[in-house]
Amino acid sequence: MSDETKQGFATRSIHAGASPDPTTGARSVPINQATAFVFKDADHAAALFGLEESGFIYSRLTNPTVSVFQERVASLEGGVGATCTASGHSAQLLALFAVMDSGDEFVASNKLYGGSITQFGHTFKKFGWTVKFVDPVDPENFRKAVTAKTKAFFTESLANPGGVVCDIEAIAKIAHESGVPCIVDNTLPSPALCRPIEHGADIVVHSTTKFISGHGNAMGGAVVDSGKFDWSQNDKFKSLSAPCGAYHGLNFHEKFGEMAFTMFSHAVGLRDLGPTMSAMNAYLSITGAETLSLRMRKHADNALEVAQWLQQHPAVDWVSYAGLKDSPFYALGQKYCPEGAGAVFTFGVKGGYEAGVQVVDRCKLFSHLANIGDTRSLIIHPASTTHRQLTEEQQVSAGAGPDVVRLSVGIEDVEDIKADLDQALNI
Ligand SMILES: *Cc1c(COP(=O)(O)O)cnc(C)c1O
Repeated sequence: MSDETKQGFATRSIHAGASPDPTTGARSVPINQATAFVFKDADHAAALFGLEESGFIYSRLTNPTVSVFQERVASLEGGVGATCTASGHSAQLLALFAVMDSGDEFVASNKLYGGSITQFGHTFKKFGWTVKFVDPVDPENFRKAVTAKTKAFFTESLANPGGVVCDIEAIAKIAHESGVPCIVDNTLPSPALCRPIEHGADIVVHSTTKFISGHGNAMGGAVVDSGKFDWSQNDKFKSLSAPCGAYHGLNFHEKFGEMAFTMFSHAVGLRDLGPTMSAMNAYLSITGAETLSLRMRKHADNALEVAQWLQQHPAVDWVSYAGLKDSPFYALGQKYCPEGAGAVFTFGVKGGYEAGVQVVDRCKLFSHLANIGDTRSLIIHPASTTHRQLTEEQQVSAGAGPDVVRLSVGIEDVEDIKADLDQALNI
């Protein structure tokens, strides 16, 4: 609806994709647990199966509650369509599944979430997909890794640990000069703080488990398509611009235009791989998304204040947060996340490994766990947990050396957050 697209971000966070239930008048989005939906008649069934008409068949492919969340996330990112999935990892699988064939390559940032490094570097090998990791701090590194088999670039807008802000515009430009889409994981800033499509990204992926849902109670992922990439500009993207055997020779790009990627992700990706978001998790995530802009503003304000305070703390060696003026990523942060550099950052505690472990153990308000993006403040010592399998050298290069503590600053009162860290640091 043209009017809806003109509405502001906070309004769309609450309303995009949803309207009062036409049967009951229910104002919040109903949780539709049905697995299957009745056809009006045989012609209706045939039209749905032939992708001639949109509607609901079976909840592995589409579901009314999940559809609302899909429209919501697509609207917030400024895309034409979205596919929601069971987790952030399955969103990454689906995003690449539409563009990759066995034997293909993609170029990815080496500063990704640790789970993504493992998924790309080890598990995707089983599909015959090869990843080439490059340092994203110099965008030209992406160009140097391109070969005839490259099908996509993948980076995070804002990466942890280390507070790295990627130059999305420069990376997307090189992707387009190479004839491939630029996929951006926008989990850390969320669309409230950064919208990669406005800077040239073609596909945005999310772990909605984190800030979009925001309450630490629903796993989920999303793949958003900008609708701008021309899948027929070369012969690289056979799933999207060549006849599809599983749909009587249908060519997705010819038939669906800017919706080709999203239609493929539902009709083939979700149908055949099956990582569907549950209606219950869509409902919880819709409820979470309604407060996204308020929460992100508070997260970012609290994080900046805590980061500045930690910089002055006698027990702290260094603080790495893109919102700090002395961060090497401050300028890029101002460009891509002008309203705040998010809630997640790292700092180094004096006394190394032992001190890092003790700080985490002594926190009371902060929860010690392996997650980010919750309303609650979260803390972890990567070297003794998420990065413990690596050598010390590998830990340091991943920004997870022995002295590193990672925070996901919550939206509690900032004085309470600082007081908890202060008592934990004063060993
Ligand atoms: C958590 C996370 C993922 C993976 O998402 P899940 O929902 O845990 O599968 C991917 N990227 C980033 C940046 C993350 O923080």
